[in-house]
Amino acid sequence: MVKTMHVYEGKAKKMIPLDERKFIMEFKDDATAFNGEKKAQFKGKGWLNAQISTMLFKMLEEKGIKTHFIGVAGDNKLIVERLKMYPLEVVVRNVVAGSLKKRLPLTEGTELPEPIVELYYKEDALGDPMINYYHAKVLGVGEDEIKEMEHIALRVNEILREYFKEKGIILVDFKLEFGQNEKGEIVLADEISPDTCRFWDAKTKESLDKDVFRFDKGDLINAYEELYRRLVGEA
Ligand code: ADP
Ligand code: UDP
Repeated sequence: MVKTMHVYEGKAKKMIPLDERKFIMEFKDDATAFNGEKKAQFKGKGWLNAQISTMLFKMLEEKGIKTHFIGVAGDNKLIVERLKMYPLEVVVRNVVAGSLKKRLPLTEGTELPEPIVELYYKEDALGDPMINYYHAKVLGVGEDEIKEMEHIALRVNEILREYFKEKGIILVDFKLEFGQNEKGEIVLADEISPDTCRFWDAKTKESLDKDVFRFDKGDLINAYEELYRRLVGEA
């Protein structure tokens, strides 16, 4: 199969083909929320998300999770394996926040008895609707594949939850994306950053993630820098 060499520019990243097997994934300073309705730019956000994603992908690889991460290619760029992406977002939740409040009669901050996994169809035109196994099958994604993605997502949750707990941070929820490599294996892709996860300071419950932008809770760069400092262990 001949692979396109076109650059794809998304809302938060640019995917620049390096060769048939690799992309440069460039993190932009752009931020969007509410399905692109709210937009802004934050100087330094791309760098912070690239650093945080790099650290988390490396750590997950060490724990045996297959990811698309190959290496770094400068300040805000990662080299990643080109994958055939599943049109899905896999969300894992440990604590009630965001859209879960519209689905269950629980208040923000309630710890869930066990993690919840949700599937969404990644399609801006439809507003990324929540879907189930039947919908996924129509989209060409089989039950076995979803089960495997859910299994990996729960394992990633265990690893990240523990890792962040040690840094005084609660991993509230997060979104993952997966793709298939040339061997047909399911690989963790995209990014893991404060754009795609909710992180709360364990003591103050302050947001260290994109909710700062979504709900005008303060300075986004300050929050992302604080998260970054905790990860690299600086005072
Ligand atoms: P969006 O497309 O939602 O605006 P981004 O700005 O984050 O999102 O763009 C990144 C795009 O690259 C997403 O569509 C994502 O699914 C896709 N992607 C992430 N990792 C890979 C990969 N390893 N191979 C191919 N596509 C990928
Ligand atoms: N999320 C994401 N991209 C999306 C939708 C959700 O990265 O398109 C992340 C979001 O940052 C949060 C988790 O998935 O960490 C759960 O999001 P929720 O369903 O609460 O959606 P929200 O109302 O916040 O968009």
